[in-house]
Parts: sequence; structure tokens; C-alpha cells
Amino acid sequence: MAFEGLTTRLQNVFSKLRGKGKVSDEDVAEAMREVRLALLEADVNFKVVKEFIAKVKEKAVGKEVMESFTPGMVIIDIVNKELTDLMGGSQSKLAKANKPPTVLMMVGLQGAGKTTTSGKLAKMLQKQNSRPLLVAGDIYRPAAIKQLQVLGEQIKAPVFTLGDQTSPVEIARQGLQHAKDNGNDYVIIDTAGRLHVDEELMEELRQIHSVVNPDEVLLVVDSMTGQDAVNVAEHFNQQLDLTGVVLTKLDGDTRGGAALSVKAVTGCPIKFASLGEKLDALEPFHPERMASRILG
Ligand code: GDP
Repeated sequence: MAFEGLTTRLQNVFSKLRGKGKVSDEDVAEAMREVRLALLEADVNFKVVKEFIAKVKEKAVGKEVMESFTPGMVIIDIVNKELTDLMGGSQSKLAKANKPPTVLMMVGLQGAGKTTTSGKLAKMLQKQNSRPLLVAGDIYRPAAIKQLQVLGEQIKAPVFTLGDQTSPVEIARQGLQHAKDNGNDYVIIDTAGRLHVDEELMEELRQIHSVVNPDEVLLVVDSMTGQDAVNVAEHFNQQLDLTGVVLTKLDGDTRGGAALSVKAVTGCPIKFASLGEKLDALEPFHPERMASRILG
């Protein structure tokens, strides 16, 4: 499960603090050194770690904390609060267009989980009594269109496709029109990925963006790729003005660095977390719950 190493290490640091009636400056410094190492080992971006530790120290060192009844607990609370803030503070909800349909554009590298996440999002929206339309805009990856159609059949959501010979920009344009004509209140556009960020892909995504004017541009990133996921997010964000991130594969044994760094590095909120291959494995991302989970 994700974050295992980090949780174990933080628990060790905190159990030492918790046991103490009085906490010295030296104890706090020692704890902060250990938290710092634990975060670095969890593959959290080093700048993010530096700022995080500085913030925690600023709050933890002081008379109020030292003279409180349970200083160890106060420090643990501070770490918990800062971890929550690091991941965005509070839940960041999906935007909704004033006039339907709300357009969600899914972007990301190949294999990150865009197509499956599109299906999962559609299912989540259906549960909220919405009528999403899936648009098959990934014409390059063999079988991506079929994969989306199969997902659509499973959840009984319509899938708009023009095959793989029409440009994705045209598919997106017609898909949006189709949604308007058929009363779909959400349009989820699955776009093509690449193995690496490249200019051609970005240009295509920018064109789709200008044609459909999305309410959300959601970057799907594989949390198992750690710092790479954060670099990818930075790249996409420079080119496309992302509105949110979906972290996938949090069910795997990711060390957690991506989840803990991506908001701080890009400024983009994490909106959803995917914790499995099944269609109901997508959850709204709650920073405070994730922080509590990490702290164990
Ligand atoms: P795309 O190329 O970005 O469209 O990626 P896909 O949607 O085809 O996903 C790539 C692979 O990752 C598939 O085998 C998915 O089942 C798998 N996958 C996606 N999300 C998750 C997740 O949250 N957990 C796990 N374990 N697998 C996932």
C-alpha cells in the first residue's frame, strides 16, 4: 500500500515525542531531522521538504508549545496540519459550467490511466444523477477507442467516436456538439498521451482546448512514477494551465512523493485519487484524510 515506508518512519519519530512530558529544543530539532529524512526517502521534492520543515519548525519552536501539557502531541498536530496544507488544505471540487455541458478534458502521458479514469469519472457523475458523454479523442494508442467503448458499455454511458482517421480536434468539436444536442450535462474528453512530453502533443492539446474551452483540464498522473510525475505535471501546467490533477495507482506501493509534492510544485489542486483498476476505485481527494492516513 502507498506511503507504507513514510508512515512507519513518521510513527517512529512521533512515538518518541509522544512519550515525553517535556520536549527540549534539541528533541524538536532531532524530530525535524528525522521527518525531513523520511520525506526525502518518500521521494518528496527536496525544495518542498525544505519549506515544509521550515514551516513546521516555525510553529513548533516556541514557548507555547514547550509549555503545553503535551508538547509531543502539539508537534504531531502541527505536522498533520502542514501535511494537509501541503496537499491543498481542503477538498477541491470539480468545476461546474453555468450552462451545461461541463467540459472535462483529460490529459496525461500514455499509461498514466487517462482512459480508465475517464470511465471512472463518468461512473461517479452518473451516481450523482448526471448524464456524461465520453469522447474518444485518443486516436493514436491502439485500442484506446475500443477500451473507452468497453468502459462505456459497462457503465451504460454513451461514447462518441469518429474512429481513428479524423483529427482529435474535430472529434472534440463534434463530441461537444453531440452532447449539446443530446442533453448530456458533462463531456469527458479522453485525449492522446505520449511516452514523454513532446511539442506535437502539446500543440494538439492546445488546439482541442481552444475549440472546446474546457471547464476543467485534468492531468492524470501515475503516482508510482514519483518525482517524474511532478516534473510531468510542471511541464503540462506550463503549456496548458491545468485546473486539477488526478493521482492514479495510489493502491500500489508508491512512496508517496508525487502526492506530497505535486500541489506545492504546480499550484494545481489534486482533485481525485485512483486506488485500483475497478471502475469504482476513484475517490475525491481529501487532503486532511490523506494526511491522517500517512501519519497512520
Ligand atoms: P492511458 O494510456 O493514460 O489511457 O492509460 P489507461 O487508462 O489505459 O491505464 C493504463 C493501465 O493502468 C491500465 O492497465 C489500467 O487498468 C491501470 N490503472 C489505471 N488506474 C489505476 C489505478 O488507480 N490503480 C491500478 N492498480 N491500476 C490502474
